[in-house]
Amino acid sequence: MALIKVKDLLKHAEENGYGVPAINVFDYNSIKFAVMAAEEAHMPLIIQYYPGFKEHAPLRDIRDMAVAMAQRASVPIAVHLDHSKDFDIAVEGLGAGFPSVMVDGSALPYEENVALTQDVCRCAHAMGVDVEAELGHVGVGMQLEDMTNTDFFTDPDQAVEFVKRTSVDSLAIAVGNAHGNYIRTPELDFDRIAKLREVLDIPLVMHGGSDIPTDQLIRAVRCGMSKFNIATEYQRAFYTSMEAFFEDKSHPGAYYRALRAIERPCIDFVKEKIQILNPDHYSLA
Ligand SMILES: [Zn+2]
Repeated sequence: MALIKVKDLLKHAEENGYGVPAINVFDYNSIKFAVMAAEEAHMPLIIQYYPGFKEHAPLRDIRDMAVAMAQRASVPIAVHLDHSKDFDIAVEGLGAGFPSVMVDGSALPYEENVALTQDVCRCAHAMGVDVEAELGHVGVGMQLEDMTNTDFFTDPDQAVEFVKRTSVDSLAIAVGNAHGNYIRTPELDFDRIAKLREVLDIPLVMHGGSDIPTDQLIRAVRCGMSKFNIATEYQRAFYTSMEAFFEDKSHPGAYYRALRAIERPCIDFVKEKIQILNPDHYSLA
């Protein structure tokens, strides 16, 4: 029974100076490889699902597989629903049994973000479910302005008020990070991260954790960030390893062989992220 609450896991990570990758999964294999990587690394991990993919795989199916694999895992694994864009999706996640949900009202005016986050927290907390919210707006990495315009960045004073009013459990912050592929190498605002860490008493979350250079990831951990969302790079690990298998042409039509062939590179990708985010080499083993 190694299923752990996101809140408890991030607290442990903070106390022991490591960051936790939150790996965005999309099917059975992506969950399995991520859990295997955590077991091999003897470190905890978060499995999360983006509800925008629910037309492909229903929330309940991914939740059930992730929870079952977490319960059997030899290391603590948390399960989380990523980016609920409105109240209905967050409640759908609660109904599907996710032990943790994100509600993202960051594109809304501030007061509407507060109200939405308050509503989701009220429902989720009554069910013992953790909530992550976002303040400031983490945009898209292909738009330079989203990475550089500090108007989108999280304001520390506003963050203090937001956390107090919503009683949210963790906060996604905008500090030069962005979703998807980056148009140029991101430059994180470490002074802002340090300030947010100083004034807030809940874990801080980095969205757009893919393709952030290793030295910046380590520095973000040292500044006290706890959860690092990895989606784009994990999908790329699947794509490139499968592409290599298909180009090889030695087993035409053998899809099962392709799945076996991509297992090791995908596990190794997640293991490397776990290790990068753990600069002091903390180990459960
Ligand atoms: Zn995100």
